[in-house]
Amino acid sequence: MKVEIKCVHCKARNYIKKGYRKTLKRSKIQKFLCLGCNRYFTNDDGFYRMRNKESIITMSIDMYLSNLSSRKMRNQLRRHLGTRISHVSVLDWVRRYVKKVSKFVDTLKPQLSGKYYADETEIRRNKKDDVFWCAVDWDTRFIHSTLYSGRPQNVEDAKRFLRRIKATGQTKYIQTDAGVFYPRAFRNVFAFHKKNNNKVEHRINNVSKTKKHNVRIETVFSKIKDRVDDFRGLKALWSAPILITGLVIQHNFIEQHSAVKDYPCERAGLNLNLFENRWLNLIGFSC
Ligand SMILES: [Zn+2]
Repeated sequence: MKVEIKCVHCKARNYIKKGYRKTLKRSKIQKFLCLGCNRYFTNDDGFYRMRNKESIITMSIDMYLSNLSSRKMRNQLRRHLGTRISHVSVLDWVRRYVKKVSKFVDTLKPQLSGKYYADETEIRRNKKDDVFWCAVDWDTRFIHSTLYSGRPQNVEDAKRFLRRIKATGQTKYIQTDAGVFYPRAFRNVFAFHKKNNNKVEHRINNVSKTKKHNVRIETVFSKIKDRVDDFRGLKALWSAPILITGLVIQHNFIEQHSAVKDYPCERAGLNLNLFENRWLNLIGFSC
């Protein structure tokens, strides 16, 4: 994939190079003259009109989502790079670019094994519990369907969640725990499949009987829960799903999975050539 330059005013792709814009922290930036609307523009590489360097921004996003609080990140930037920004800026960068990148990654079509492990977990926010529903594909470890809800577990949310799983069009089986809402939601969402002789199997792992936990999904959840513990931006219901989406992107695209020593996105056939600075390149594709 290659990033194409287009005019930020009229989206035309015919332009000529015309001088540079001087910036304080991002050095010289190439200016273009649009032959469509005759106005000057600089390329929107995802960092259009941002005052800080791309590398500082992407490093902050990466470290925040992997393990560092926004306050600690702010302190590191000041001590080691002499960059003075507030912890709120770190959070704003994370949310701004997670939103941008998630729109892009939602258009991708991962090739999944169809062996899905689905579960839900409680996320503490403002002294109450939200519920995060999450499904991971076993062979690729790709997280493909999620739902963040401000309500306790219920059949309606279970249906919304299963509809997202169904939309992958690749489901072979879904394993869940013995949650009471699953069988009803499952019948509701996948009922039509049976007539088409296209059966999707619902495997229920009743932990109290089998004594076996659903390790396959719990590894993913424990990683997310570890990180969420000191997520300060989790206070507001508008912000929480964005940050959790950030963790999902971090899992799918940025970090090698410890068990399979590979990126889930690449196992799912999405070879985006993200090179070393994976956030920077993901943002470039998302413009
Ligand atoms: Zn133009």
